[in-house]
Amino acid sequence: MRRRLVIILTALVISLVISTPHVFAAYQYTFKGYGYGHGIGMCQWGAKGRADAGQTYRQILAHYFQGTTVTSNYSVPSTVRVRLFGSSNLSKAYIEGEGSSTFDFVKTDGTYAFKGATGKWAVVPATGGLLTLVKPDGTVAVDQLAGPIIVTDASNPIEVYNAGGSRYHSYKGSLYVYPVDASHLYLVNYVGFEPEYVNGLGEVPSSWPYDALYAQAVAARTYAVKFMKPQNTFDLYDSVQSQVYIGVDKINETSGGTNWGARWAKAVADTKGQVITYSGAPIAAYYFSSCGGHTENVELAWPNASPQPYLKGAEDRNSSGKAYCQQTGNTSFSWTKVISKTDFESKLGVSGIANLVITKYGVSPRISQIKIVKADGSSTAMRGDTFRSKLSLKSTWIYQMGGTFPDVSLNYWAFTQIEDLVKRGVIAGYSDGTFKPDEIVTRGQFAKMLCLAQGIPTGGSNTFTDVKGHWAESYISALVTNGIIGGYPDGTFRPEARISRAEICSVIARAMDLSPGSNKSSFPDIEGHWAKNVIQLIASNGIVTGCTDGNFKPNASANRAEVSVIIYRTLAFAQ
Ligand SMILES: [Zn+2]
Repeated sequence: MRRRLVIILTALVISLVISTPHVFAAYQYTFKGYGYGHGIGMCQWGAKGRADAGQTYRQILAHYFQGTTVTSNYSVPSTVRVRLFGSSNLSKAYIEGEGSSTFDFVKTDGTYAFKGATGKWAVVPATGGLLTLVKPDGTVAVDQLAGPIIVTDASNPIEVYNAGGSRYHSYKGSLYVYPVDASHLYLVNYVGFEPEYVNGLGEVPSSWPYDALYAQAVAARTYAVKFMKPQNTFDLYDSVQSQVYIGVDKINETSGGTNWGARWAKAVADTKGQVITYSGAPIAAYYFSSCGGHTENVELAWPNASPQPYLKGAEDRNSSGKAYCQQTGNTSFSWTKVISKTDFESKLGVSGIANLVITKYGVSPRISQIKIVKADGSSTAMRGDTFRSKLSLKSTWIYQMGGTFPDVSLNYWAFTQIEDLVKRGVIAGYSDGTFKPDEIVTRGQFAKMLCLAQGIPTGGSNTFTDVKGHWAESYISALVTNGIIGGYPDGTFRPEARISRAEICSVIARAMDLSPGSNKSSFPDIEGHWAKNVIQLIASNGIVTGCTDGNFKPNASANRAEVSVIIYRTLAFAQ
């Protein structure tokens, strides 16, 4: 503890400075952004907005997938195999015929493992990658079954429950149960492609306008055609890893006496077999929730992807400039995420982060590449989408990164110091939410900051002719009373005048008990200046630094960012 008040003017004044060590606050980082999802291809909420505005699904698709055609002249597959529960393995699964119907367990050779099951059966993995069928009463019906086992019900859909017994969804077609190992299995729904699979896509609300549903049905059908994997044990996941598929639950959706699902089924039927093509081939019909006003080039959103003429970022706004996806019900048009510094660093796997530098923008402009700079100057390059997923951000379109203020982002040179002083209550932002780091600091403002930073209680008096009734009067009085600050020979203090860099050094020198420090510096432009000695003292302790041209510019004013850094250094010095 070297900080101690120096009493200059009067021996009667008792130090009011409380020299408690400062504990540096744990920072929170604030990220603000637009949109939800990767930003490539069709914006689902935008498609709804466009349909609301009277666009047809062909116009909508032509906007999001430029240069493409919607065609019925492509033969879609007859069946598809969809892995349920995303990529999760289950410790067991329960199966039941819908409406208490009977169902069968069949081996791949076509013989029955069990015929005519009723009620809720469990399929349980066993040693050696085998499967056991357990009856509703808990007794084993069949064990030592080699996988996969096929569950079929000729007349009704099959309901699936997770390992905890919670209902998942209900499916047409059959279910293949694949053992993974002694304690895990997964399920694959073999189902007709059209209409069963497309009918089961739970991507958008069925209440949306028909042209939005048509656009979704055609895009999703195209996506499935493009990304099916015949060489694997399943073609697609039932989750966002592919696209969300909820079986017959989708077309059975009913609320308030309306079968909303029937609208989705109609959208699928009305667009039967239609896919989007480019140069005659089905496209990679990516889509996502909400773009925030602009979509992104595929190769900028996913840096390993090849550019595609039909996956170019485009403005998604109407003629009055409003984004089509900015509408009631879309809670992710814009977003805010607050992350503690600890979480931030652990999720990114980098400690001592000092700065984030965006090294490549997309066209929207999403973040394509980012550099994470550590306090020691070393840095890690990261893809924007990796950064997004590690921090669970809704998109890579981040317009405010890191701080409390839009004009002091994490990569701002004085970010750490400003955030710290704001957390301590030494300085605050403006009522419009900004910080205005370039604004010049007045003598009154500096007096207040110093009092708050150093814990100097307000009080005392002064004899200045221009301070009475000024908002900073009590702070100025406190500093005067403690001998830290003085006025001008004409008896004024000039609280509204800018404070110069020399004056800052002079005040700090009086507020702190400093010995000459180890930083060597010589500034040509302070020779003969009244504050030469205090500037050298403060600079030798690293609290102020010179300008890039080697001068100090003692009479120059200081802005809020510069003053924040100086005040911050005095606090750090005191530790
Ligand atoms: Zn949009």
